[in-house]
Amino acid sequence: MIVVMKPHAQKEQIDRVCDTIRSRGLDCHVSIGSHTTIIGVIGDKTKLIDVQFAALSGVRELIPVSEPYKLVGRTGHPENTVIDIGDAQIGANELMIAAGPCAVEDYETMHETAHKLRAQNIKFLRGGAYKPRTSPYSFQGLEEEGLKILAKVAEETGMKVVTEAIDDDSIARVAYYADIVQIGARNMQNFHLLRKAGQCGKPVILKRGLSSTVEEWLNAAEYIMSSGNANVILCERGIRTFETATRNTLDISAVPVLKAKTHLPVIIDPSHAAGARAYIESLSMCAIAAGADGLIIEVHPRPDTAKSDAAQTISIDCFAELCKKISELSKIMHRTMPGDDNK
Ligand code: PEP
Ligand code: MN
Repeated sequence: MIVVMKPHAQKEQIDRVCDTIRSRGLDCHVSIGSHTTIIGVIGDKTKLIDVQFAALSGVRELIPVSEPYKLVGRTGHPENTVIDIGDAQIGANELMIAAGPCAVEDYETMHETAHKLRAQNIKFLRGGAYKPRTSPYSFQGLEEEGLKILAKVAEETGMKVVTEAIDDDSIARVAYYADIVQIGARNMQNFHLLRKAGQCGKPVILKRGLSSTVEEWLNAAEYIMSSGNANVILCERGIRTFETATRNTLDISAVPVLKAKTHLPVIIDPSHAAGARAYIESLSMCAIAAGADGLIIEVHPRPDTAKSDAAQTISIDCFAELCKKISELSKIMHRTMPGDDNK
């Protein structure tokens, strides 16, 4: 249930509604808009059955919500969420572009990648330190050493780090070293980890599970938000279908669907969707044209030698070309690319 306050309702009126809700053992989530404040009720609303909300001063109306994801849903929070991280804003006008290798391999490669990306005004550096690989024999990542390498090159370049956490132990370390904690596709329904992500103190990128519906994905985001973290970014990275021509099938419809259902920023990972370099550009352009708030792309200075996901990793030159094209397209979409204002 959502309590919509009258335009310009006063703080005391909002507090009174919240106190009433809390006095029955429920929680509330207050969303203050430029004109209207909306209060989302979290918990068993049958406990409020005898409360005459409409009689409380400042209340305009009550809206019953059937969506299970109250915090994530747009109904209770009509305005887009914008996440501030240093000089970057995710979900606002400027596209969030994150790039870097699949895995952190060594300091030299990460240093070279970060400096070359920074020269292109890219603000977010990706690279996995903990790698949840399909095969136990594949490279599993440098773990904490990888996080230290990321933190060092981030300090050198001023870039912000996005890297994946896979369990209780890694999430605390990732949240310490990184700017954004990524929850990977294979962990999208690891509810314990989602709750930890809600308490980690850093923004979270939640990738879509390999075979998850939008509904399941939004519920997973609700776990994070209801555990105390409002800074969630959804990342579509392709889903499992009968099609084998690409590694996964990029569900481009997820962008407008999510934009309708949630206020959270939505980004696209064309790399894990395509599984092949040749398709990264087309999928990236589709993503921006569909209204995505950004991209996360696997890039390596020598992609053929990348220790993981080489086939889908593009070179830094190829990435620079792609950024030029996205910059052109972003104008039509009334968006900007990082660095556009320096040109
Ligand atoms: C990744 O981004 O490094 C990754 C493993 O992606 P996904 O979880 O989408 O497979
Ligand atoms: Mn990868």
